[in-house]
Amino acid sequence: MVRVQSVAPDSVAAELGIGPGTDLLSIDGRALDDFLDWEFLSAEEAFVLSARLPDGQDIEFDIERPDDVPMGIALEPPNIRRCANRCDFCFVDGLPAGLRENLYIRDDDYRLSFRFGNFATLTNLKPKDTARILEYRLSPLYVSVHVTDSVLRRRYLRNPRAPDVMEQLRALGAGGIRFHTQIVLQPGVNDGPVLERSLADLHGFGDVVLSVSVVPVGLTSFSKVHLVREPGRDECRAAIDVVHAVAERCLAERGHRWVHGADELYLVADLPLPPAEWYGDFEQAENGVGSVRHLQQQIASYGDTLSSLAGRSIAVLTGTAMGRLLPTVIADLARQTAGHFEVIPLENELFGPSVTTAALVPGRAFQRALQERPSVSLALLPAEAVNDDGRFMDDLSAEDLAASVSCEIRLSYDFGDVLQSPALQ
Ligand code: SF4
Repeated sequence: MVRVQSVAPDSVAAELGIGPGTDLLSIDGRALDDFLDWEFLSAEEAFVLSARLPDGQDIEFDIERPDDVPMGIALEPPNIRRCANRCDFCFVDGLPAGLRENLYIRDDDYRLSFRFGNFATLTNLKPKDTARILEYRLSPLYVSVHVTDSVLRRRYLRNPRAPDVMEQLRALGAGGIRFHTQIVLQPGVNDGPVLERSLADLHGFGDVVLSVSVVPVGLTSFSKVHLVREPGRDECRAAIDVVHAVAERCLAERGHRWVHGADELYLVADLPLPPAEWYGDFEQAENGVGSVRHLQQQIASYGDTLSSLAGRSIAVLTGTAMGRLLPTVIADLARQTAGHFEVIPLENELFGPSVTTAALVPGRAFQRALQERPSVSLALLPAEAVNDDGRFMDDLSAEDLAASVSCEIRLSYDFGDVLQSPALQ
């Protein structure tokens, strides 16, 4: 059963009298377990929908509609599939107490992998899930492989029952599923020859594995630092050497590099980022792989459509990782808008200084930085630092933050998205 959260006005569902709180039970006799069932089974032009209205009345709808007319139904959020692993570096273990409740959920959900590009390990897949992936063609999936050797992977995931990921990729790949994969690098565990072997194994799948990213493990002050550590400069350099060697071979063989190091890998290695063309289609930019070059491209693509910011003082607030990289990006932006930009990198006081990503900076850190800078007229904050309800990691809302500072606040993904508004003129 799935429950309706809201219904668009003038939609098919509104005409039928389906409203919030209606339980959708089955389509053509097939039970609806989650949003995937709903989306795939209701994609037909004609179907019989069994539902239970909020007053308890069971009803059947005979639905016929052209396939370009949406039903207009938004469902309540799904129950998230929990993770069966206990990785030493797990972000959830590293969280301090008192944050937003859903941050403590250890999710590992192939459905969210398909829908949103969340990485999943596939270790909690049941035969029924595998059958659904194949039936609904849930492709591409984003898979945390980490290491292809099954013994090492079980140890890595602290899950003695983890299935062999190579077999899973093979079986799903044979059914037409494709994968973007990642390897989170732990020094002494899955780097060096183990990394080489994992890349060789994944390479052996041909175009079933669409991309691989190699990402250095990130820890917080609360992580199990007696069990795991972050790679240092030389370890990151060694990993980059491995990545580049495979990437160059793939470029010659396949016409694209296929494997990429995360921006953070180059940062820690103290090496310059590769140029934009290195990253092809930026397939894992959201995973921090080529995200700086991607951002630069985005800004350039706005061209002269950006508003003039002459005479304005603009603060760009971010985590310490991007703080080191953003000045390059911001120089382009300053040239295009004539504004005076200042990058303000913020140390993560909640998780500790080793957590450098902008997405995890707490709202109060932004608030304090802006309250200390009354001359700032406009502040650009990373949009990924708030959830769908507009709340930062520490539960402060963007609205409350805006009310507590003297400057204008804008949440932005790539700067250009908020610097085109006439309100800035
Ligand atoms: S796969 Fe590992 S890191 Fe991810 S949620 Fe599970 S235990 Fe945590």
